[in-house]
Parts: sequence; C-alpha cells; structure tokens
Amino acid sequence: MKTIILHSQDLKIATHLSTTLDCKFESRFNHFRLYTDKNIDLKPLRSEYKVDLNYLPEDFDFSRVALFVSDMDSTLISIECIDEIADFANIKPQVAAITERAMQGELDFNASLIERVELLKGLDVGVLDKVYSERLQVNPGGEELINFFSSRSIKSAVVSGGFTFFTDQLAKDIGLDHSRANTLDVENNKLTGMVKGSIVNSTTKANFVHELCNHYSISANQVIVAGDGANDLEMMEVAGLSVAYHAKPAVLERANIAISYGGLDKIMDLFDI
Ligand SMILES: [Mg+2]
Repeated sequence: MKTIILHSQDLKIATHLSTTLDCKFESRFNHFRLYTDKNIDLKPLRSEYKVDLNYLPEDFDFSRVALFVSDMDSTLISIECIDEIADFANIKPQVAAITERAMQGELDFNASLIERVELLKGLDVGVLDKVYSERLQVNPGGEELINFFSSRSIKSAVVSGGFTFFTDQLAKDIGLDHSRANTLDVENNKLTGMVKGSIVNSTTKANFVHELCNHYSISANQVIVAGDGANDLEMMEVAGLSVAYHAKPAVLERANIAISYGGLDKIMDLFDI
C-alpha cells in the first residue's frame, strides 16, 4: 500500500481525489493522506487540482533526519539576490536573463557567475544592505519549517551560488546553523567585479552536504535538501531526500518530492506530526 500526501487542507479536493482514484483517505495535521495499491501518475493531477501531491517515500526514514540543507535564492528566499543588486546598476534585465539560463542548466555556472559579477563592478557595497533590508523575503513557510527542524534537533544550513553577505545574515536572522556561499570582493566600499576564492557551484554544494555529514557524524541518507535550480542537482543526488521547490523543469524531473503550489512548510507534512 502506497501513501499519497495531499499537501492541502481542502476537504473537497481530498473527497474528489479519493472518489476518482477509488482509494481511502485520512485527515492529518495540515494535510490529507490517500492510500492506494495502484500506480497513479501524480503529474496530471497536480496541474488539474493546482495542488501539491507526492508519494510518501518508502525507503526514507523520517525519524532519522538529522540535517536540512537548502539553496537560498528562489528556494529559501523569494528573490535572486544578484538580479536585485544589478537593479541598482540599472542592468537587472541583462543579469536576470543570464541567471535564468544558468538556473535552467543552459550555461556553465562558474562562467555565468563571473560574467554577472563583472557587470556589478564599481557598485557601492551599501547596495547589498538595501537588497537585504528592502527586497529579501523568506519564502512562505520558511521560518516555520526551520523552527520545526530546530524543535526536533534537526540542524539546518543554507548553501548558495550567491553571496555570503546574504547567506550569513539570513542564517543569523532565521536561526540556521550553517551557511556557505561566494564572497564578493570589495575595495574602498565598491564591488571590484570579482569573487574572492573559489566559486561555490553545483559540486561545492554537494561537497558542503558531505562536509556537514562528516561534521555531525551522520550519513547522507539522513539529509533532506531543497532547491530550485540546475546547480542544486548534484547535492540532490547526494542527499537521502530531495525536494524541488517551485523548481525549474530539470530539477522537478529529478527530485523525490515536488512542492510547486504551497510554501516550504509543506515539507513538514512528510513527517506526519
Ligand atoms: Mg536557487
């Protein structure tokens, strides 16, 4: 018997689905669970009902989860920081177009980051503060999810192909245990158009998961990762469970769990609290 999570509190949808699929359902905290022996393709149902539906993974032990690692831009927060920085240089459309192609997996990440950061050369560092305080918002359910993990002694971390200026502050503000990202080079309070040190890319993100597993002496099977872009695919392969959050098609294809309608708190439904 397989369990389908209906990440919604809408009784109408639950009733309709259980009739259509000819299966039983139960109400749980904030969601419904449907039970079936059949192999039901959830994809068309998701778009028909505009709701998140996922099979509860049978080979993943939720009671042993020890670490949550999330991408930042467009996953944990609602913006792409680099695009907003570029807005202050009046080049947002150019930079955002490159970001979009990089996240779709159409460009080499390192080259695309170098190209975008170069375009920011000469900008006052004060712009970073403005982006953080005026534009950066945690995605719906994000803080609830992090609080939930911390209440269960599950560590949380953010890893980003974006910048430490934002990851470090975000970690402090919402209580993440670790953060890793690129460091923007600054001289005389201006961005130099370069990144300090090696670039945090897809491979670095996967290595970061391994590094934290070593740090806590846990296995990668005890890790949940969440992401939306092509540079999250490698860390998704590494972790025991991967969540595609409002993700690009390539990421949706490969993730274990898809959240495309609801907030980050929908991940909590998997734990059956
Ligand atoms: Mg992202």
